[in-house]
Order: sequence, then C-alpha cells, then structure tokens
Amino acid sequence: MATFKEFRNNVKPNWCPGCGDFTVQASIQRAAANVGLEPEQLAVISGIGCSGRISGYINAYGLHGIHGRALPIAQGVKLANRELTVIASGGDGDGFAIGMGHTVHAIRRNLDITYIVMDNQIYGLTKGQTSPRSAEGFKTKSTPEGSIETTLSPLEIALSAGATFVAQSFSSDLKQLTSLIEQAIQHKGFSLINVFSPCVTFNKVNTYDWFKENIVNLEQFPDYDPGNRIAAMTKIMETNGMLTGLIYQDTTRKSYEDMAVGFKPEALAKQDLTLPEAEFDKL
Ligand code: SF4
Ligand code: MG
Repeated sequence: MATFKEFRNNVKPNWCPGCGDFTVQASIQRAAANVGLEPEQLAVISGIGCSGRISGYINAYGLHGIHGRALPIAQGVKLANRELTVIASGGDGDGFAIGMGHTVHAIRRNLDITYIVMDNQIYGLTKGQTSPRSAEGFKTKSTPEGSIETTLSPLEIALSAGATFVAQSFSSDLKQLTSLIEQAIQHKGFSLINVFSPCVTFNKVNTYDWFKENIVNLEQFPDYDPGNRIAAMTKIMETNGMLTGLIYQDTTRKSYEDMAVGFKPEALAKQDLTLPEAEFDKL
C-alpha cells in the first residue's frame, strides 16, 4: 500500500513560503494514502491560478487545464475511466468567477469526483485583485476605493444547487482537512471542499490570524446533524459562511455515472472504443 510519500514527486512548488496551498497539497497526499489509493489510481485536474499548479506537484495522473475549466475536464476523465479517483482543484477566482457556471452544474450533475477550492479571497497569480470571495470594502488594485459588490457564498450556492457533500476547512488544520478529503473521496457523488488557504503575499486582511479568529468549527456543536439540509443552510448563514467541518452530506442520492445508462460498466464493455486505423491518418 502506498504511503503519502509515494504521492510526492521531485517538482519543487514555486508557491511563496507560507502559502496555504502547501497544506492542501500535503492533505491530498495524506488522504490518498489513507484511503488506500496507489498513485496510478488518482487523477488531479486543476484550473489556472497559483493553486492550479497543484496537479504538477502530486505523483498521480494530472492535468493543468485552462481557466475555470478544471471541472469539465475532471468530469470527462471520470466518465472515461470510472475506476480512477478524480480530484479537481483550483482557486476561488477559477471556480467561483470564470468557472462558476461549470461549478453549479457539476454540483447538480453529481459525478463521483472531489472538488477542492483553495479560497484565498483574492486573485494571487495576477498579483492581487478583488475576487468574488473578497469582502465588501476590500481594497486592491482593481477596487482601490473598496469592493462594492456582495461577497459570493459558495456553501449556500452549493446547497441550493443540490450538492450531496459540502465541507469547509482551513489550511492551518492539516488533520481536519485530510479527514475531510478522505470522506470526500469515499463519498459516492460530487464533493465540494472549500478551503480557506491564505495568500500571504497579496491578501494582508484575510491572514492566518484573521481566519483563526473568525472560523467557527462545527466541533463546537456536538448535536449538529450533517444530514439535515435546512439546518446546514441555517448554520452557514448564522456563521456568515465561516463554518468548518463536514457541513452537509446526502448518502442516498446515486452519482451521475451510476444512473446514466450509457455509462454503466456493462454498457461501456459493449462499446468498441478503438479508433479505426484509417481515422488515425486523418488526425
Ligand atoms: Fe500563494 Fe499568494 Fe504566493 Fe500565490 S501569490 S503562491 S496564492 S501566497
Ligand atoms: Mg484566489
């Protein structure tokens, strides 16, 4: 059985020292090993942004896609090879701005993949502009007078879109994040994990200390039932979206590929997917 070290490769991340994305990378590697995967059973598909580099830093199948398009690619990978564990990842700009249309529809489609968003509430790769996750009043080069837009709430949107697994964590909490990724991989359907992953270089407001002061860990509510969708929505709103832990899980709904007739293993086995040699010549 592979250890987490076998999910490492020899590529040195070029993230800034202290960037929250390092912990996300380590958590994926640990979770993959903990659930008994081998590197050749995992595919990590990422979008564009500092966080998008993560697919190159994990010893597994990987594809660094295009901006906002990690999810269409990840869904295609899963439909082509249902035996693979597929993780899609990217930042808040990638998933909740340019890619938001894909995010909502991937959630409601409910393929069995895990989507990890590294949410630093800013555009880091392009050196610090306001993102849909930035708070009102947030000042950057793109909103020098402070953002006048409402902050987008991905957890509320995910629940409204019919998500079957919604969780949130923090880059400073390797143990919780690893455990949530393990649960997400084992969940039979689409799993969203939003991770507060500080950008230490460009976001001087939402720092590690700021998150530590503002996060509300679900462990504080021992009676909380993650199977109750209304309670989940209420708790998200009560905590202004700062809740961490497993917020909602529906274990009753089947995944897309388990319902789509054409993707059932017996249907796929009957299909001849070999391209005739003459077709190769045309490529
Ligand atoms: Fe991380 Fe921000 Fe540096 Fe990008 S710019 S690597 S998000 S700390
Ligand atoms: Mg970002």
